[in-house]
Amino acid sequence: MKKVLLIFCILLLPFSLSLSFNSPSFIWSYVTSYQTDELMYWKVNYIQKLIDLIEDYLPFLERSGITLPITSDIEVHFIDVGQGDSVYIKLPNNVDILIDGGNNWYGDDVVTYLKSQDVDDIEYLIATHPDADHIGGLDDVLKAFEVENVYAPDVSHTTKTYNDFVLEVRNEGTYIKTAKAGITLINPALAAVIGCPSFSNVYFVGPVKNYGTDLNSWSAVMKLDFGNSSYLFTGDADRISEKDMIDNSMFLKADVLKVGHHGSDSSTSQEFLKEVNPKYAVISVGKNNNYGHPAQEVLERLEMCKVDLFRTDLQGHIIAISDGNKINFNVEPINIVNLMEDAQESTPQKTSILITHLDVSDEKVTICNNTDIDVDLTGWVLVSEVGNQKFNLPDGYILKAGKCVNILSGRNAIDEPPTNLKWTGAYIWNNDSDIAALYDAEGVLISRVEF
Ligand SMILES: [Zn+2]
Repeated sequence: MKKVLLIFCILLLPFSLSLSFNSPSFIWSYVTSYQTDELMYWKVNYIQKLIDLIEDYLPFLERSGITLPITSDIEVHFIDVGQGDSVYIKLPNNVDILIDGGNNWYGDDVVTYLKSQDVDDIEYLIATHPDADHIGGLDDVLKAFEVENVYAPDVSHTTKTYNDFVLEVRNEGTYIKTAKAGITLINPALAAVIGCPSFSNVYFVGPVKNYGTDLNSWSAVMKLDFGNSSYLFTGDADRISEKDMIDNSMFLKADVLKVGHHGSDSSTSQEFLKEVNPKYAVISVGKNNNYGHPAQEVLERLEMCKVDLFRTDLQGHIIAISDGNKINFNVEPINIVNLMEDAQESTPQKTSILITHLDVSDEKVTICNNTDIDVDLTGWVLVSEVGNQKFNLPDGYILKAGKCVNILSGRNAIDEPPTNLKWTGAYIWNNDSDIAALYDAEGVLISRVEF
């Protein structure tokens, strides 16, 4: 017994030299400072043994007047980033997790939101997959905060948005760790050290395998167990990956489900819902988006499961707080039946302002007003998604009913309003592949065309 205590004291020596025992955040930073370097694997083992010992000798520590973290609440914030995803998780003892950062132009909003929550640094940053509506804002987050660990699935992309993300990870002095089924971020022992209740655990249940160029299927799917409450964050995982997760016997049961792919019918299959059996569902989706998200079929399936539903497009930021047992939301759930009835009663809205033409070699985008009223395009923005370049429509520009306007760039660009508007003399559009997206003054996606 004496020998074990002696080993214990030797192991604790680094703490006693430089750290205060009643300040658990020091323990956390000490533990994680070694996790960033895989080459120092033995040190991680050393720390793990230390954590095990702390657990074993809890009564001894308590008798010695050493204070370990007190269990406190978990907060899960589904940040309203329009048509995209960004979820901030605040664990006890200032351990912060961020899953995705919305589109490029939401980066600053996400940073402001995190600062409003007193985030000092981010312990775990997860990029679910390389699509712009998920990783676009992450370069701004990486610039604004110290980030200790970055996880993403083992798939890359050719877009500038993806390159910006990878570059900022490098600038952070770290590297991307692989997110895949079976990888654990925070095991129960580490969770106990940071003050989570028993049975807490954070790990990936997807992706289960290689999905080639199907980026949505690659989505990193994170499971979070906090005491007796549980959460499943699915990114844009579709039915194929949902089936693989079920077949892989992953334990998917969760109280709160972040509904896959903004409520698209390509996700949230009946089988998957049966497996997860959620009490609450959150859809992160843009107002009046061009994709028709969330799909009526998904709303019907969620209604059949009797879940309490929350939506960022209708309710803004959605916040779930739990003590490890009960989960409380900042807003009341939406009545799904009323929502579906309203949708059926309203005459289907014809998309009225459209990008009708994207010619990347001629550097020309055509936008047409198919309504019978003139529309003021002040504050509207045309975006080249690959280059993340933006053109602000001129103040006071009116697109007349039934008329079209060309937005021109490159050497031959001319400015002849109201028919031709010059963006720039530079070349904007990527000739291999690009996407033109048009947003109104409130940031709502109005039309999107892929070349
Ligand atoms: Zn998405």
